[in-house]
Amino acid sequence: MIDPFGRPVTYLRVSVTDRCDLRCVYCMAEDMTFLPKPDLLTLEEMERLCGAFIRLGTDKIRITGGEPLVRRGVMTLFQGLGARLGQGLRELTLTTNGSQLTRFAHDLAQAGVRRVNVSLDTLDPAKFAEITRWGRLDKTLDGIFAAQDAGLAVKINAVAMKHVNEGEIDQLVAWCGEHGFDLCLIETMPMGEIEAQRADQYLPLSMVRARLRKSWTLTQTDYATGGPARYYDVAETGQRVGFITPMTHNFCESCNRVRLTCTGTLYMCLGQNDAAEFRAILRDGASEEELEAAIREAISRKPKGHDFIIDRTSGAPVVPRHMSVTGG
Ligand code: SAM
Ligand code: SF4
Repeated sequence: MIDPFGRPVTYLRVSVTDRCDLRCVYCMAEDMTFLPKPDLLTLEEMERLCGAFIRLGTDKIRITGGEPLVRRGVMTLFQGLGARLGQGLRELTLTTNGSQLTRFAHDLAQAGVRRVNVSLDTLDPAKFAEITRWGRLDKTLDGIFAAQDAGLAVKINAVAMKHVNEGEIDQLVAWCGEHGFDLCLIETMPMGEIEAQRADQYLPLSMVRARLRKSWTLTQTDYATGGPARYYDVAETGQRVGFITPMTHNFCESCNRVRLTCTGTLYMCLGQNDAAEFRAILRDGASEEELEAAIREAISRKPKGHDFIIDRTSGAPVVPRHMSVTGG
């Protein structure tokens, strides 16, 4: 599938639930209203839709959310998709907060998952509780090490926040280096209403990178995981540190992905509101050909780039969805 700007679309991210066992301050409001169950695609519907994407050339699928591991029965989806590895699908992976990984790491590895991204913004237990509102650092760390023990390669995702964890990035680089994890730093994106003021949280990664250079020797590499991160080798640790900078650098030229929500809405861009609906098509008994045609039509509408701006008069985000809806 090639979009109107000549970009091959080979990567599908699937949000399997909008729910989560945490309430990270940059992602959700504390009091969230979640979707009623009948609105959600069943895991079978998701697998069928993923199958159509794979036939059309999607070779990488990432399961995300909300917290994907809180969706009941989610391992059946991993098993179903895992069976397609080597048959069109090249990689099956997930992004998780790690809280359930002690339970699921082994089964994920069995299903064919080789890499996981785990979100961890701080190594300080009190700050972790503050950022995630409901989380416990030890639970996430146990999950991370369970994944490592199960043979999964772990990448740590950290959202860089002004005044919150900006003083700890060196420590995160050192800790990841010690344990053999790559680290990926992310700028906060203005998505959805939260209690905090977005502008107060925003920390440009260009500044973080300049600060890191005082302690670490960073050499830019062309290592790529199919995502928007730009990676640097850290000479002192032998690991990599990546930067995802949607706000300071336009990362759209090489965009190869589309995102499916748990209700079957396909967003062709994380930072735009145009979408295609698949739930009704699936439930109206569409044939595989009709499903494929609907996917192709959606890809033909993939926009050139995102629109992550905060409305200057109201202070409201232009993208009203929370990240947990489209899947980060
Ligand atoms: N619950 C899982 C987790 O936390 O990894 C998967 C879903 S979460 C929405 C995916 C990623 O998006 C996490 O790394 C999270 O830190 C990031 N994220 C959430 N809201 C964000 C925002 N407004 N700006 C930037 N990153 C965000
Ligand atoms: Fe949950 Fe992930 Fe959002 Fe945190 S970032 S609230 S863990 S979905």
